[in-house]
Amino acid sequence: MVEKQNIITIDGPSGAGKSTISKLLAARLYYTYLDTGAMYRVVGLMVKRTGLDLQAANSREKLVQLLDSFDLKLAPGLENQETRAFLNGEDVSETIRTPEMAMVASRVSAEPEVRTKLSDMQRVMGSKGAIVAEGRDMGTVVFPDAKYKFFLDATPEERALRRQKQLLEKGQKVEYEEILSQIRKRDQDDSSRSLAPLKPAADAIVIDSSEMSIEEVVSFMLAVIEKR
Ligand code: C5P
Repeated sequence: MVEKQNIITIDGPSGAGKSTISKLLAARLYYTYLDTGAMYRVVGLMVKRTGLDLQAANSREKLVQLLDSFDLKLAPGLENQETRAFLNGEDVSETIRTPEMAMVASRVSAEPEVRTKLSDMQRVMGSKGAIVAEGRDMGTVVFPDAKYKFFLDATPEERALRRQKQLLEKGQKVEYEEILSQIRKRDQDDSSRSLAPLKPAADAIVIDSSEMSIEEVVSFMLAVIEKR
């Protein structure tokens, strides 16, 4: 039998609570938390800033050049904060956490060159094991041999409410309907793309967190991990 990697994957749609839960789970287990969404957001920011038109005929070459020359670093956020991200040494942590940047990240994440580059980086980051890797394709594509795989879901309405609260705490006031429609659009784009679409791995445990508290989800995951 192939030895499974000491990795926990948490995939799922946006707003399902993945970040909070992954971070808590990693802390309880003394594992490293890997926020792969932040990586797609940073690439999105880079593409946006350079004004690269991904529809243009010569965009492939430029995109590859861009991906070959950027420096990306992630650092743990303080207690309630999300992962901090640095692009070529600049702290872009706040800049990447807007609804607009979420849509841009989703757009660039469908590009094969971007997926290959970031998946390779993620595998290097996870090569020593003891990580909780959060994203859309962690259990299906990046770490298919992970020991524990979870797929965290919740209804779009519940996810929109949670996202609105989260943004409000950061001082960003966005209408519920606008967030809901963005969540639906991102779900649709992330699930229907041909490369690494958002879906549970065949061996993932699917958790619907709509009616569960964060603590309940973390306890459930810990119980699964301790039982195996
Ligand atoms: O998780 P987060 O909302 O930060 O992710 C932003 C976007 O990045 C997602 O909507 C998705 O399109 C993309 N993403 C991805 N694969 C991952 C993580 C994020 O395609 N592993």
